[in-house]
Amino acid sequence: MASLLEELNQQCPEELGRELHSFAASLYPICRSITGDGIRQTLEAIAQRIPLRISAVPSGTKVFDWTVPKEWNIRDAYIRDRHGNRVVDFQCSNLHVVNYSTPVHATLSLDELRPHLFTLPGHPDWIPYRTSYYKEDWGFCLSHNQLLQLEDGEYEVCIDSTLEDGVLNYGECFLPGCSQDEVLISCHACHPSLANDNLSGLSVAVFLARHLLAQDYLRYSYRFLFIPGTIGAITWLAQNREAAAQIRHGLVMTCIGDAGGFHYKKSRRGNAEIDRAVSCVLRDCGEPFETLEFSPYGYDERQYCSPGFNLPVGCLMRSVWGTFPEYHTSADNLDFLQPESLVRSLRVCAATFDVLEGDRKYINRHPCCEPQLGRRGLYRSTGGEAIPEEIHARLWVLNLSDGDHSLLDIAERSGLPFFRIREAASALSDAGLLADDQKSD
Ligand code: ZN
Repeated sequence: MASLLEELNQQCPEELGRELHSFAASLYPICRSITGDGIRQTLEAIAQRIPLRISAVPSGTKVFDWTVPKEWNIRDAYIRDRHGNRVVDFQCSNLHVVNYSTPVHATLSLDELRPHLFTLPGHPDWIPYRTSYYKEDWGFCLSHNQLLQLEDGEYEVCIDSTLEDGVLNYGECFLPGCSQDEVLISCHACHPSLANDNLSGLSVAVFLARHLLAQDYLRYSYRFLFIPGTIGAITWLAQNREAAAQIRHGLVMTCIGDAGGFHYKKSRRGNAEIDRAVSCVLRDCGEPFETLEFSPYGYDERQYCSPGFNLPVGCLMRSVWGTFPEYHTSADNLDFLQPESLVRSLRVCAATFDVLEGDRKYINRHPCCEPQLGRRGLYRSTGGEAIPEEIHARLWVLNLSDGDHSLLDIAERSGLPFFRIREAASALSDAGLLADDQKSD
């Protein structure tokens, strides 16, 4: 069976990069939030590409210690000066309005308006992203230079929004495999025009799901979740406890399209198979990377790894949230998203799934001294040359296939890429030198 990564590598990387980027670009203008039309439109766009079940949970529903909030929608918003000019205009950028702002229509002096204005003096051309989900309030975000240009005087402020009972939506793409054991991929889909933080994860996840859909055989079942951050994960966990119990490996995916190196934040367990699989793939991916220990802040791994669930779910990122200046600003835009970074992130995910799909234990059927590989065409033909990597891999697999070590164990200990170890196991099995360890299936 060809690996998921090998199949992906057969596609033209430039074309794949363009497709990943253009899907993110198509979602970029939508004013998303944790509820409302924006996230619904986003889920509908995803549903055009992969099978997606969209759930709707009514406002007021209790989910653990939280309550599903009212639904927020917005049509327009502006600050108008006394000449009638829109000096801040939601139609130019949806970041201009504090997400979840209550409706307002008033005339205010600049001093009265100031407490409702947010800027980034350190990056005077950028618009910050602010939210007020759980406290009813309103506000505008603007560049610091825009603020400096505002003269004293009266301003008409209008936020044409609604905050009413409605629903919270999330989308699920479930791909059944041979086993009911599941791999979870979770992405937040609640940020408005922010590219890396939000859309990069969505785009890579959609392409991964399509790639898995094209497979004839999957060992695991896969569940892709597209959800509003925090409240979406809490709602899903509250309403899907049986499905949650099936999760054997999981990844939260976000901030995965910028030019930075990879960061993998381990699950709360710290040594789950997903933690080891991602670490092994990153070790061999040829890009800079860092693994981070678990912490109870960040993205939705906080919920999946809360002690009542303690699921083996890590978080795969490139630049870490909060550490890059563009984070939560208008500079996290489509130019910040690199097509080649998206492609390489997709490859790392495919290689990680290859590890999960292919990891198993074998038993060496000739454990007393090395079996003679040359006679079976599994060794170099002339002595004296350097031993190639595939022969190293065969020797490692034979040596450690004692029923105690899985292929991932062998990849870790040998320092050889997992795909090499898997290839070696397959060649040795074909030659009758390895038997499946029944216990490991
Ligand atoms: Zn964010």
